[in-house]
Amino acid sequence: MINTDYHTHTSYSIDGSDSMAAMAAKAAALGLRQMVFTDHEDYQADGSPFPHQMSFDKYIAEFGRVKRQYADRVELLLGVEFGLAPRINHKLESLAARYPLEFIIGSSHDIEAKDLYNGEFFLGRDIHAAHRAYFEEVLQNVRTTDAYDVYGHIDYIVRYGGYQPNELRYSDHADIIDEILRELIARGKGLELNTSGYRYGLNCTHPQPDILKRYRQLGGEIITIGSDAHRALDICANFEEARLLLLQTGFKAYTLFRNRRPYWADLES
Ligand SMILES: [Zn+2]
Ligand SMILES: [Zn+2]
Repeated sequence: MINTDYHTHTSYSIDGSDSMAAMAAKAAALGLRQMVFTDHEDYQADGSPFPHQMSFDKYIAEFGRVKRQYADRVELLLGVEFGLAPRINHKLESLAARYPLEFIIGSSHDIEAKDLYNGEFFLGRDIHAAHRAYFEEVLQNVRTTDAYDVYGHIDYIVRYGGYQPNELRYSDHADIIDEILRELIARGKGLELNTSGYRYGLNCTHPQPDILKRYRQLGGEIITIGSDAHRALDICANFEEARLLLLQTGFKAYTLFRNRRPYWADLES
């Protein structure tokens, strides 16, 4: 059984619904050994903070209180999910240096400063061009910033665009995906296996199995498992499917972090 969750959002995220304490209570009730809070830090197209941006000082202060309150039931870790983008990575690097974060997910939520969620990025692009531009920016992030430990939901773009069919095959972009995976490995960074795809109707994880398999083939070992829960109910959702997928794709262990350093736990135990 996987008894940690490395991707969770609380009410410090604009789209999170439960308080830190409520998320911690659920983690304790599930008998988890560990859970990481990874609330959002994203910036607007012009590089300025969103009006709803969380205050790191408040986030950390409340984290300290909740961590102490639950100390004998579950180990809580302070993390964050950075929205990586070439125009703001320098800000994220300063935050990473300034705050005592134990684990950082770096994700691409916008590309060319255009949000994927509202469809603007896809205008005038066919599916191949859209996916290509997405992976080009991911590669640029991987090559130019250190402000993350694992890349979050690395094929996130497949959720959006509304193409028919809306598919992303490793083989369509094998060259650039290989370059990204090789860079991650060479730089001591990892991937996350994100189970939220099951809740968004994709019926699989991010990344999809073919990309995960390729990462392992190329020697990738750093792999965290996260639900991307935005409410307590979804903590550790579909983790048994994730565990079996990792075993099928050649992993023997999954990764945990402390002070941004990886260590591993056995998938079979
Ligand atoms: Zn995300
Ligand atoms: Zn997330």
